[in-house]
Amino acid sequence: MERFDIAVIGTGPAGLEAAITAKVRNKSVLLLGNKGSSDKVSKAHTIQNYLGLPNIPGDEMAKAFLNHAADMGVEITEDKVNAVYSMGNYFAIQCHDGDYEASSVIVAAGMSAMKPFPGEIENLGRGVSYCATCDAALYKGKTAIIVAYSAEDEEEAEFLAERADKVYYLPQYDYVGSLGGNIEVTTGVKPEAIEYKDDQAILTTDGDTYSADGIFILRQQIAPSQLVPGLKMDGNHVEVDRSMATNIKGLFACGDITGLPYQYIKAAGEGNVAALSAVSYLADLKKSDN
Ligand SMILES: Cc1cc2nc3c(=O)[nH]c(=O)nc-3n(C[C@H](O)[C@H](O)[C@H](O)COP(=O)(O)OP(=O)(O)OC[C@H]3O[C@@H](n4cnc5c(N)ncnc54)[C@H](O)[C@@H]3O)c2cc1C
Repeated sequence: MERFDIAVIGTGPAGLEAAITAKVRNKSVLLLGNKGSSDKVSKAHTIQNYLGLPNIPGDEMAKAFLNHAADMGVEITEDKVNAVYSMGNYFAIQCHDGDYEASSVIVAAGMSAMKPFPGEIENLGRGVSYCATCDAALYKGKTAIIVAYSAEDEEEAEFLAERADKVYYLPQYDYVGSLGGNIEVTTGVKPEAIEYKDDQAILTTDGDTYSADGIFILRQQIAPSQLVPGLKMDGNHVEVDRSMATNIKGLFACGDITGLPYQYIKAAGEGNVAALSAVSYLADLKKSDN
């Protein structure tokens, strides 16, 4: 498997700037995320405080960022990262559509407003999972619940339903889809808590209680401590030093995920620092290998 010098997670201002800087420094870069940049950029109304781009609508700023990255030869691999594991002198990156390796990682995944449900973290890997397509093979003849946040999740539900006996699909968005067969769609229910009893995952909602072999929560963002096991947090944010280094050697973080203020220019600036720090780390790694 190809081992990239630097893997960057997230295509908001922090991730795009980190990838551009890494590319300028002649590193091989794997940029993972959404090809359209971040919704927090493209859906913003008008931005007044980004240097050089005064009074710019969010969608135009997203285009400017993406054009800059493309001009520099930075490609976006559209995939969602499920987990990053430190393997000593490299990282294994587990994504929705495949697995990758990189010598260093920059996490620029932004902040999610959503908190985990009570019981979610405690039951991760034991009834609770974040990737239906990754685990589908384990659900032959079983039942599953999907809590979905985007129409794109309907494809995951269909894939899982090809293996599972029954899938309960609980969309948390305006559902206009046409899922059917062994997929039972219930709209308008709000999940409240999860527990795991007698080999069954139980989801309590503001309406019914659902019971199945497993629950898939398909949020766009995964809590950083779940994304990178062992990552040290400072409250809801990833703890970093001034070089954007985390407690895990070779792993850096930048942007909203490292703390307030939530601002584009701060995110991009930290992306630049994180990439330069990753470049120094790689130089040290190379020296210690010789
Ligand atoms: C409505 C609105 C208006 C705003 N206006 C302003 C303003 O005028 N000025 C200002 O300075 N700031 C403003 N902000 C704040 C600004 O949007 C954020 O500070 C900035 O977007 C943070 O950049 P980021 O790259 O850290 O994270 P984000 O922009 O959140 O990007 C993170 C990206 O990572 C992706 N991602 C997350 N998890 C994964 C994963 N597991 N695998 C792959 N990809 C993943 C996300 O989908 C997202 O695309 C505004 C925010 C909002 C919501």
